[in-house]
Amino acid sequence: MKIIPISVPTPFYIGPVNVYLIAEDPITIIDTGPKTKEAVTALRDGLRVNGFRVSDIRRIVLTHAHEDHCGLARSLRDEAKNAEVLVHEWETGHRHSRLEYDEHRVLLVRAGVPDDEIVRLRRMYEAVRQYADSFADHEHGPLWDNADLEFETGSLRIVHTPGHTPGSCSFVREADRTIIAGDCVLKRITPNPVLSPDPLDPKKRFPSLAEYLVSLARLRTFAPTLVYGGHGGPVEDYDELFNRYIRAIQERQSHVIKLVSTEGVTAWEVAQKMFPGTDDVHRFLAVSEAVAHLDLAHTEGKLGLEVSGIREIYKPL
Ligand SMILES: [Zn+2]
Ligand SMILES: [Zn+2]
Repeated sequence: MKIIPISVPTPFYIGPVNVYLIAEDPITIIDTGPKTKEAVTALRDGLRVNGFRVSDIRRIVLTHAHEDHCGLARSLRDEAKNAEVLVHEWETGHRHSRLEYDEHRVLLVRAGVPDDEIVRLRRMYEAVRQYADSFADHEHGPLWDNADLEFETGSLRIVHTPGHTPGSCSFVREADRTIIAGDCVLKRITPNPVLSPDPLDPKKRFPSLAEYLVSLARLRTFAPTLVYGGHGGPVEDYDELFNRYIRAIQERQSHVIKLVSTEGVTAWEVAQKMFPGTDDVHRFLAVSEAVAHLDLAHTEGKLGLEVSGIREIYKPL
């Protein structure tokens, strides 16, 4: 069962995204690239040099529903005459190619993001939406944790690895312990635990960083020999990456705790101090990062949390 990476350009800061072609019946691609002309061309070329066409694709599997990964899913499915599309059920926030704005708004207000900033973020959501088509619920099937994606001569085990997004999934070829991990594992950078509503209770936020730590540890139990990430080259030494991520997360957590003054701060204020001068999507990611670390510190008993009106204030213990 051959796993073939195809690099597809994106208009995003992160750079090209990796699409993985599983060149065996049923011909499957894991992730698609964003909805841009450049991405379609690169994907077609990548398929062609390996002897395939879009119409050969029978199954489109999404590691998660960020635009750079899922953007082309709908048009590829249509061109491939109704190839099956699979995504985890918890990927609710992004599945329809729109961040669930109202649910997000509540989370942003609670994190102390000022109203004018929320308006700017709304514009950013709108701009990013153009890079993906939406899907109705009946148009895709679920990915179940621990189930297998069957191929003619082998299978990939589906492993739910929430954190970067609630419905992020990885795929393990157990024969040689190779993993396709989407944005759960990136060679050069520590992935963002993106601020999301909890799929099981959208009024709450998803405990993204706590879940992410569990996912990283779970992948480690497979003793991976090679991990293909959503961006950049494959990771050959997962243990080294695991330890590096854990160190980076711990360092950031102690930094965040130091930014919490005695009178208390919101996540927005912490984000401003951590990443001054950020813009656009990076402002949102900065808030995500701050909330994720503050929440983890709070659940680990290292910070207090008080609700003042509609805002949440973190305080030293
Ligand atoms: Zn992503
Ligand atoms: Zn990505």
